[in-house]
Amino acid sequence: MRLVLVGPPGAGKGTQAQYIASNLSIPKISTGDIFRANVSGGTDLGKLAKTYMDRGDLVPDEVTIAMVRDRLSEPDAQDGFLLDGFPRNVAQAEILRDMLKDWGQALDLVLELVVDDDEVVRRLAGRRTCSQCGRIWHVDFDDKKDDRCDACGGVLFQRDDDKEETVRHRLEVYQEQTAPLVSYYAEEGILVGVDATGPVEEVTGRAMEAISPYMG
Ligand code: ADP
Ligand code: ADP
Repeated sequence: MRLVLVGPPGAGKGTQAQYIASNLSIPKISTGDIFRANVSGGTDLGKLAKTYMDRGDLVPDEVTIAMVRDRLSEPDAQDGFLLDGFPRNVAQAEILRDMLKDWGQALDLVLELVVDDDEVVRRLAGRRTCSQCGRIWHVDFDDKKDDRCDACGGVLFQRDDDKEETVRHRLEVYQEQTAPLVSYYAEEGILVGVDATGPVEEVTGRAMEAISPYMG
């Protein structure tokens, strides 16, 4: 199964990606996570990406595509993958399609996580990430009173780009650059919308239902 998750920042892509990928036994490939790992590791890629991420802008396509190409070439991605946060504009989608075609592959399905703006802002404002295992939490919805990860005990942090001003800009970038992917993939006939409101497990259930007709 070759799957892409699209949706605005805060829609729950990362949260759902961990469950869907584990249910389907495919690797979860999150470009945001890979960039953040490079930023904390102080690599050249991280230094470059950071200037864009801090502003809430997209990292240039060239850099992002090269990184995804490398990751998709790894052995564990040959029989399927779940992309979270890529592609993020039509140019990336076209290059992904050509890249997969060269390898005799194609996307099976694109899931659009649908939530309204108010909910997105609520979700981003309370998002916390574990510095150790990368798990995503929410201060209110998960009732996090301490700053420790319930899964591994690691310290939770708030992402720099989840500050209110940057969030506003990221939502604009989504509308301008990423939202056109919805009609792009609808035209390709592989888009399915999933209601991403309500409890996490319910959203996962809806996503798995949407995926099941495309399996095996
Ligand atoms: P969110 O989960 O809130 O949608 P991500 O973790 O996916 O955010 O991405 C964080 C930042 O990383 C983005 O704002 C952008 O700067 C960069 N980024 C992630 N994926 C891409 C991509 N496909 N193209 C360009 N930049 C990206
Ligand atoms: P994205 O990757 O799309 O930016 P995340 O998966 O990081 O989104 O989720 C953003 C925030 O919303 C996190 O704090 C997460 O815990 C919370 N969240 C995700 N799904 C739900 C849900 N169904 N209900 C309530 N909060 C959620």
